Amino acid sequence: MSDLLNEVLGANRKYAESFDKADLPMPPGRQFAILTCMDARLDPAKYAGLAEGDAHVIRNAGGRASDDAIRSLVISYKLLGTREWFVIHHTDCGMETFSDEIMRDLLGSSLKTSSVDENGWHDCCEGNGSAEAKYIDWLTIKDQAQSVTEDVIRIKTHPLVPGDIPVYGYIYDVKSGQLVEVSEATEAGKC
Ligand SMILES: [Zn+2]
Repeated sequence: MSDLLNEVLGANRKYAESFDKADLPMPPGRQFAILTCMDARLDPAKYAGLAEGDAHVIRNAGGRASDDAIRSLVISYKLLGTREWFVIHHTDCGMETFSDEIMRDLLGSSLKTSSVDENGWHDCCEGNGSAEAKYIDWLTIKDQAQSVTEDVIRIKTHPLVPGDIPVYGYIYDVKSGQLVEVSEATEAGKC
């Protein structure tokens, strides 16, 4: 068994020993949802003060309002009763470091993990790439405030999203732990 697998299963055994959340209802108790980035430095439970059962947290690369993120948000309100949503991107996001073209070239030449330096992303070795990357919109980010605003607008104007759900737009600062409002996004997300 890998060291990592052992660590994770060990941590879970400890967690389960004192587990006291068996009676939580399925719908989030505080009736809200957060869409945010998968970045390992972000812990939404900590930065937004969540306990088990409080809120839905939907995560993907960039915290983008992809079709699948919207699928989750629609389930979140329609079946599980959330009434307010946050879109939270962050400073120093990996999604700012590449473009569709770069990702398509990298994956086209190799599936091995790429490296990055001051000249950009590089593959270590050629071969065994795939052209499939051309068919994916990687939803990269050029400007965080702009991406938050775009995503709030996409969610807010989606035909399956009712008008009475406010959507708030924020950027999490990885250097301070603070949430900084993107006022243009919050404005666009008003009811
Ligand atoms: Zn990120």
